[in-house]
Amino acid sequence: MIDFTLTKEQIELRDRARVFAQEYMLPYAHYYDKTGEFPRPIMQKCWEAGLMNLAIPKEYGGQGLGILEQCLVVEEMAAGCAGMTTSIYVNSLGAEPILVAGTDEQKKKYLRPLTESLKFISFACSEPGMGSDVAGIQTLVERDGDNYVLNGSKFWITNAPHADTFTVFASRDPSKRHKALCAFIVDADSPGLKTGRPVEKMGHRASTTTSVILRDVKVPAENLLGAEGEGFKIAMKTFSLTRPAIAAFATGLARSAMEYARDYVGKREVFGEKLLNFEVIQFKLAEMFMKIEAARLMYLKAAWTTDFVGDSTIQASAAKAFATDVAMEVASEAVQIHGGYGYIDQYPVEKLFRDAKLYQIYEGTSEVQRLILARHVLSGYEPAMGKIPRWYNNKPPNF
Ligand SMILES: Cc1cc2nc3c(=O)[nH]c(=O)nc-3n(C[C@H](O)[C@H](O)[C@H](O)COP(=O)(O)OP(=O)(O)OC[C@H]3O[C@@H](n4cnc5c(N)ncnc54)[C@H](O)[C@@H]3O)c2cc1C
Repeated sequence: MIDFTLTKEQIELRDRARVFAQEYMLPYAHYYDKTGEFPRPIMQKCWEAGLMNLAIPKEYGGQGLGILEQCLVVEEMAAGCAGMTTSIYVNSLGAEPILVAGTDEQKKKYLRPLTESLKFISFACSEPGMGSDVAGIQTLVERDGDNYVLNGSKFWITNAPHADTFTVFASRDPSKRHKALCAFIVDADSPGLKTGRPVEKMGHRASTTTSVILRDVKVPAENLLGAEGEGFKIAMKTFSLTRPAIAAFATGLARSAMEYARDYVGKREVFGEKLLNFEVIQFKLAEMFMKIEAARLMYLKAAWTTDFVGDSTIQASAAKAFATDVAMEVASEAVQIHGGYGYIDQYPVEKLFRDAKLYQIYEGTSEVQRLILARHVLSGYEPAMGKIPRWYNNKPPNF
């Protein structure tokens, strides 16, 4: 049976996120985009509205919600402001390695505080010299008695200057690639840990992105996640759990772009006619709608697979790659429909166009998703038709 009906609780949650996006995100999106300030007041409100850290289990003070619920929430929020949503959602990305591989003690110590007040946890995997090739991490870790010692540089770390905690990936020996990776929980006030200056970005300017420098940072041995050498597995599992939400982000942004375009075509006149009277414009809106519907179905399937079936790596990659392309295409068409006005910040589609691009880059680029999918089609996928029969068979059936 297939059923796309949301439960009463899911509808309430989605609607709460929608109202939050309309009241607290949309009206301030332009301000934070222009200034690049960290939207702490909005995040405080978001935390108070119970719309952050949704996956933290009830036994650690959280709501214990699934990926599906997280996706429903972030579609609404990203429709309000993509940058703020990135800042808000990074707590889920940062906490996911602990959810995936943490002990009960680690979860109590690091997840519970996120539910008690507004705190930030960042995910520190990428480095100046590597992003896609996670096995190529160069940050070094050495064991020293009861501690591990970290040395290296992380780059592109969202919310880093505001983080209370980081989940950090490092290698015992970079020549051993994925086999040597380890994951740690690192307190932001650890001596030797410093964050850099925020980088100026094209979009998502309401989220702060900086480097994280680690110089002889001592991490207690009990902060190792899983076992030594399990860091790569933990990172990949984390991505398969968080990518459906990136697809939902992209769907929300695309939905917004379509709605702004729909509004504009009812107002703008060209050649003595409203834009909406031109079939070519109507078809653009129809294309946008079809693509958004498909993107939403794909993130729902990926989220459902994670919550109710199991490993969703393939569905998550497919949804992420597809929906993020949709966001880029729809935002681009929305700019086109606005003509010159789409190119200036008088209308929000200019910001949406800049924001959409990042979805194709972070949490695994569009190319990385396609590598995962191609590998699946060529080696994991079970052909539905089984053995392909000989095509040139010139004999009639002999039933
Ligand atoms: C605003 C922002 C926020 C971010 N936040 C975080 C964060 O919080 N934490 C974190 O750890 N990281 C974060 N990242 C990093 C992000 O995940 C990486 O930028 C991303 O994974 C791509 O890595 P890269 O930039 O090193 O590009 P590269 O890996 O150098 O890739 C360059 C290009 O080559 C392509 N490519 C790479 N490998 C292949 C291949 N095998 N075949 C074909 N094409 C390939 C890529 O798709 C891309 O088009 C953030 C990035 C940005 C821009």
